[in-house]
Amino acid sequence: MAKLYFTYGTMGSSKTAQALMLRFGFIERGQKVLFLKPTLDTRDGDNMIRSRIPGLEAPVKTFSPTDDILELYNFKFLNLDCIIVDEVNFATKEQIEQLKYIAEEFDIPVHTFGLRANFKTELFEGSKRLFEIADTISEIKSPCHCGKKTIVNARYKGKKIIYDGESIIIGGNDQYKSLCYKCWREGNLGK
Ligand SMILES: [Zn+2]
Repeated sequence: MAKLYFTYGTMGSSKTAQALMLRFGFIERGQKVLFLKPTLDTRDGDNMIRSRIPGLEAPVKTFSPTDDILELYNFKFLNLDCIIVDEVNFATKEQIEQLKYIAEEFDIPVHTFGLRANFKTELFEGSKRLFEIADTISEIKSPCHCGKKTIVNARYKGKKIIYDGESIIIGGNDQYKSLCYKCWREGNLGK
């Protein structure tokens, strides 16, 4: 029986690059990969995912919050060797359960990558369900400007951290920076 994997990290911790490299590894061996992401994030348009590493990119299929992933593809006949989902934190609880079902019932490994928590340090819905039901969970670590491990995706404007507000601001011009909890709590954005 195949597993559901969750790899999480803060923004800028190379999650997308790792998802793309994992995909490349499967394809290099002649295996068939379905590369997915939820549609809330439109940074790359609808059908490409790009990492910060130049040239490391791939076409991606998207799904919306109301989609049933089980109904989007005929998993029984697709002969997939692997499913990779980037930005999985934006998936719904139900969609995580669908991915778990696909791993178990169709015996296809599902590798998911995403953020643990939003800028308020609260779990995303998709990430929460993954912590509850993923078979294997791993963390990509990245350092704060102070040297400690980052765990917070701080939202800021100018030199001030924003601690409250809507979770997703479409077209907002706030910026994000990964921080450790202490720097976040103290409002210390570094240089
Ligand atoms: Zn820090």
